[in-house]
Amino acid sequence: MSKRVVVALGGNAILQPGQKGTAEEQFENVRKTCSQIVKMVEAGYEVVVTHGNGPQVGVILIQNEKGSDSVPAMTLDICGAESQGLIGYMIQQSLRNEFAKRGIQREVATIVTQVLVSKDDPAFQNPTKPIGPFYTEEEAKKRAVEKNETWIEDSGRGWRKVVPSPDPIGIVEKEAVATLVGGGAIVVASGGGGIPVIKLEDGTLKGVEAVIDKDLAGERLAQDVNADIFLILTDVSHAMINFRTPQEKAIGEITVEELEKYQAEGHFKAGSMGPKVKAALRFVKDGGEMAVISSLDNALDALEGKVGTRVRAK
Ligand code: ADP
Ligand code: MG
Repeated sequence: MSKRVVVALGGNAILQPGQKGTAEEQFENVRKTCSQIVKMVEAGYEVVVTHGNGPQVGVILIQNEKGSDSVPAMTLDICGAESQGLIGYMIQQSLRNEFAKRGIQREVATIVTQVLVSKDDPAFQNPTKPIGPFYTEEEAKKRAVEKNETWIEDSGRGWRKVVPSPDPIGIVEKEAVATLVGGGAIVVASGGGGIPVIKLEDGTLKGVEAVIDKDLAGERLAQDVNADIFLILTDVSHAMINFRTPQEKAIGEITVEELEKYQAEGHFKAGSMGPKVKAALRFVKDGGEMAVISSLDNALDALEGKVGTRVRAK
C-alpha cells in the first residue's frame, strides 16, 4: 500500500533570502519546489502539502494598511485566508503543469483551512509572534493604546505588532481533506498554520487575531489524515545539537527519548527549529511511523530515510 505523507514546506520553498518577492520570483521558487513534490508522487507516495506564509501575509497586511484611506483594511484571519489562496494557486498551477509534462493524471486542490485553537490558550495572555509592517516607536506606542494591541521592538529593525501563537487543536476541514486525498488528489491545506478560529459557546466558529505555527498545525493535519510520515522541509539538512558552535553535530536517525533529551537541554531555538522538533516528537508519540526534518533539495531521500533527522518511536 502506498504511504501517505504530509510535507511541511518552509519559507524558502516560496521565497529565497534577499529576493524582493515579485510574482515571478515566487512562481519560480514554487516551480522548483513542486519538482520535488512530483518526485515523491512518482515514487508512489500520497502527498498532502502544507506551507508557511510569513512573508506573504506580511505583504498583504502592508497592502491593507496602506490602502486603508480608500478601502477598509481586512482582519488578520481574512489576510491569512488570502495568503492560503495565493500560495495554493501557485502550487496548483505549478504541479498541474509539471504533471501534464510527465503524463501524470492527478487532481490538485487547495483547501482554505481553519484550525481550531482554545480561547483559553495561555498564549492569548502573552503575544509573541511579530507580524506586518515596521513602525516608529512613537506610532507603535500610539497604536498600542488606541487599538489595545501589543507592540515590541523587533531586533533593532523597528517596532512591530505581536500576536498570540496558540497551540493548534485540530483541522476544521479535515474530512474534506481526507476525502480528496482518498480520491487520489494532491491537497494543499493548513497553509500558514491555518486560519486560527475559536469555538463559541453556541458551537459557532470565529476567526481570532493570532498566528499558529505551521509545523505544529502540519502535525495536526498529519494526524487528521492518518499520515504515515510527517516530512518537514526547511533550509537546513538536519536538526543539530550545539547549533552554530564548534561542537555542532547533525542528528540523523533518533528515537523519541533521545530527541526529548536534546530538546530539554535547549538545543533547538524557539520560533525556528524548536517547533519543528516539537511537532516531529508529537507526530511519532501520537502513533505516526516517522517524522523527518531535512532540507527541500533532499526531499525524496529524506522521505526514504536516507538523509535528515529521522524520528521514530524506537
Ligand atoms: P522555515 O521557514 O523552514 O520554517 P525556520 O527559519 O523557521 O524555517 O527554521 C529553520 C532554521 O532553524 C534554520 O535555518 C536554522 O537557522 C534554525 N535553527 C535553530 N536551531 C537549530 C538547530 N538546533 N539545528 C538546525 N537549525 C536550527
Ligand atoms: Mg518557521
